Amino acid sequence: MNQKIRIAIDGPSGSGKSTLAKKIAHELGLVYVDTGALYRAVGLYVKRAGADPAVGSQIATLLPQIQLALRYTEEGQRVILNGEDVSGLIRTSEVTVYATAVSAIPSVRKFLLEMQKRMAGEDSVVMDGRDIGTVIMPDADVKLFLEASPAKRAHRRFLELQAKGESVTEEEVLAAVMQRDKADSSRDVAPAIPAEDAIFIDNSQLDEAQTLSKALEIIREKLRRLR
Ligand code: C5P
Repeated sequence: MNQKIRIAIDGPSGSGKSTLAKKIAHELGLVYVDTGALYRAVGLYVKRAGADPAVGSQIATLLPQIQLALRYTEEGQRVILNGEDVSGLIRTSEVTVYATAVSAIPSVRKFLLEMQKRMAGEDSVVMDGRDIGTVIMPDADVKLFLEASPAKRAHRRFLELQAKGESVTEEEVLAAVMQRDKADSSRDVAPAIPAEDAIFIDNSQLDEAQTLSKALEIIREKLRRLR
């Protein structure tokens, strides 16, 4: 196919964006870009530097020290922070808190904007995040907004963390999920809100295969009308 395909997937944490995006990428032969990993890598750097992730001026001085790259291997996307593969290290609850805090800082968003825009222009991509349909790819061919109830999202995240050996209760995870939703959707820059032309999928009652099949149906229909 000559023409590039660009698919944006936004939605709150735990809605299954990355699982869905990976499967869509596989099914349609697209590059999958997990933009949350970039915010997580910045969060990890800030944590290691001992800086306060809520203080914009402190974080802005750290940004020039950060070199980020995304690499694609058979295991999928790898995140390289100043030459170190941090793909596993950025998935802890602690780094999540840092990622959410730094993502509200305008200089951090600006820092990551160019890289994401470049990736969006280079390949046929499916990108997931919070502002993909609104800021990164406002002209995406298809914009999906994936949702599920907070309880359902917290349950999925709880199972994930449990499998990784983190000792948390489901109540704690639900509280963290709700706090993250609030922080992400109420920040001043690039708040996590659906694009006007986004198509909603609520997967509270759907399993992964059903979510994929619904998404593919929407994507194929949309692409058919565009081409
Ligand atoms: O998607 P993930 O949970 O890995 O994202 C981590 C954090 O990064 C989110 O809580 C959100 O605050 C931030 N983020 C963002 N914009 C994106 C992707 C992630 O603000 N495009």
